[in-house]
Formats: sequence, structure tokens, C-alpha cells
Amino acid sequence: MAWKKIIPAERTKNIKYAIRDIVVLAKEVEKSGKEMLYLNIGDPNIYDFVTPEQVIDDTVKAMRDNQNGYAPSNGIEEAVSAIKLDAENKGFKNIEDIFVTTGASEAIDIALTALLNSNDNFLLPAPTYPLYDAIINKLGAEPRHYFLDEDNNWEPDLDDLESKIDSATKGILIINPNNPTGTNYSEKSLKGVIELAKRYGLLIFADEIYDKLLFDEKDKHISMASIDTEAPIITFNGLSKSHVVPGFRIGWGIVTGKKELVAEYNEGMQKFVRARLSANKPEQFAIKNALLTPQPHIREMLNKLKKRGEITYNRINAMDGLSLVKTSGAFYAFIKIDLDIDDFTFCKRLIEEYGVVTVPGSGFGQKPDTKHFRVVFLPSEDILNRAYDKIEEFIKKLKEEGK
Ligand code: PLP
Repeated sequence: MAWKKIIPAERTKNIKYAIRDIVVLAKEVEKSGKEMLYLNIGDPNIYDFVTPEQVIDDTVKAMRDNQNGYAPSNGIEEAVSAIKLDAENKGFKNIEDIFVTTGASEAIDIALTALLNSNDNFLLPAPTYPLYDAIINKLGAEPRHYFLDEDNNWEPDLDDLESKIDSATKGILIINPNNPTGTNYSEKSLKGVIELAKRYGLLIFADEIYDKLLFDEKDKHISMASIDTEAPIITFNGLSKSHVVPGFRIGWGIVTGKKELVAEYNEGMQKFVRARLSANKPEQFAIKNALLTPQPHIREMLNKLKKRGEITYNRINAMDGLSLVKTSGAFYAFIKIDLDIDDFTFCKRLIEEYGVVTVPGSGFGQKPDTKHFRVVFLPSEDILNRAYDKIEEFIKKLKEEGK
């Protein structure tokens, strides 16, 4: 009897993750000895951002106090109360439930898994953060994309959004501040989305993992759940980005809305929350101070990011054939390519010929006939400037090639 080859499920065919897939190519090229400048992964710890001492102290203390068992499935009490208070300070009312998860990623997975049957569709922005597509594809449901409008500061195109809703649509995702565009949405857009959700009876997902990362003190982040107390909303957030601990894998989901609208769905989610036992326990002891005491590292982080965002904006817009809408938060720039080259070839050649690693726009979704690439501007000013020098050379070469 011979061993038999193990075949992966059909559903794996639709799972792509451009942000990490592109690294495979970069690592290949790096083997040839070429220096690589990585502008592709949103992990602040790879660059000059360090975890605040208090976050580490609180976690280490919990470990030393032998808080290394399973946590309650929804999270330890002091973390859940801190998340609740922080949310209330941002204007959340009608909080039905809170569950601490292994990164916001797990909360997103649970919320989608408890919601979607295989004939359903869920509205995602284009461009979007690709995890949502991957999970919806895993569930055999349809990720359906509505456009963000590049000519209107990348705000959601509400007409397009409405035109994509049908009887099988279950919900709408809003990522605000946005990955990959860096936009902080206007109140008008957010209210527009709420109105549509109400008219068509849809659930709203508000991914607000970058809410603390707005560069300008004048800019205010408006939480979806603070706008309408009845609307059924699941808000995702976590410590990964704002507290420089993406490796801790600590995030959460907050369920808000009129009880009779969300209670049954929440019970569905809670079944998965309980089935997977709990999120990491010692790290949950860092949540209370992280959310409820002053966090000076955030201003320092924002000062760096603001400068790096400005360098990115000025350097890119000075290049003929590239353009960038000004970003107000997070650490991403979604750059338009107005040259006769597709976005994948652009990024591939940039890696192979110049050693600069960025991600093709098609990995995030984009309007037909438009092309983009995403840059993460977490690296130091020096690395960014060197990368932009190389991109500039590449653009010159493309022009010489008649592109
Ligand atoms: N949501 C968005 C929009 C993100 O950009 C990311 C990470 O890049 C996540 C969620 C995942 O966050 P976490 O590390 O908490 O799983």
C-alpha cells in the first residue's frame, strides 16, 4: 500500500495575501546579494518603534504572578472593563458585549464566521485590508467590493456602495482610519453608511485599529458606534499598532446596538468565543494601563509618522507618473501609477532591479483601469529617502522605455 498525496481544500485556491506573498520574491532576489529596502509590512517593531515599558512590565508581572493559565473566554475582567470605559469615552453607548481575542484578526474571523452562510455576501471597501477577503472566501461566502473614491480623499463612494447591496448582503465593512489609504473618514461619510445600513437592514463592521494614529492633533477620529446608538455594529480594535505589540496578538471586538437587533447574533459569536477557550492571558494585563493611563509614546510615534508621511507625499508627488492623496493617519500610502505598466510588474521590477519591496495595489483591490502600489512609511527617513531615490530612478527608466 502506498502513501497518498494530501490535497488541500478547494477553498484554499481563493486565499491570497499579497503583503506577505511579495516577500517570497524579495527573499529570492535577496539571495543574490542585493540589498533590499522593505516598505511592505505594517509591523512597527521592525523599524525604530519600541514597545512602551509599562506594557512590558504589566505583562511580565502577570507572568511572574503565575497568570499563565487560560483566561475567561471573553477576557479578564479588568481588561474588559478598561475596554468598555475607553469605548464609552469615545461615545459608545448600548454596549452589548466585549470579547478579547488573539489580535483583532481573531475577532474579525469570529464575527464573520458567526454571520455568513455560503450564499451571503459582505461589502468590503476596495481597496481593503486583505484578511476580510480571505476569511469570507474561507466561509464560501462572497466578498463584494464597493469603491473608495480617490478623487474625494478616498472617502467611501456611497452611490457605488448602495448599488452593490442586494437581498443576500449581510453587512458593510468600514476601515477607519483606513489601511491602505491612510484616510480618516468624514462624519458625513460615516453617517451616510449608517443610513444605508439602516435602510437595508445591514450589520456594520467598524475596524478602528488605527484610531489612535492620527497625525494632526486637530483631526478627530469619530467612532462609528458613537454616531448611532441603535445601529448593530461590531467594532474591532487592539494593541498591535498603537502600543507597538503586534506580536502579543491582543485585540478585541465590541458589540453595540439595540439589544433586540444584536443579542441573537452575539450569542452565535459567543459560541465561537467559548469554543476557542481564550486569548493570551498575561498580555491582557497590559490592556488596562494601555487604555486608561497617559501614553506619551503615542505622540512621539505620531511625530515620526507625520514627518515620514510628509516625505512620502512630497517625494512621490514630485515624480511624473505617480500621485498620492494626502494621508492623515496610520502608516500607509496607496500610490497611483499613471504609467503603461501593470501594478504587479511594477512591484516585481522594483524588487528585482532596485531592491525596493512594496505591494501591488491589486492585492488590496482597486477600480478597474487604475493601478497602485502600497508603501508602508514606518522605516526611518533615511531608508525612505533611499527607497524614493530608487523609485525615482525606476520611473526615469520606465519613461525611457516609453511607458
Ligand atoms: N485590521 C486592519 C485594518 C489592519 O491593518 C490589521 C493589521 O495590519 C489588522 C486588522 C490586524 O490586527 P491584529 O494585529 O490586531 O490582528
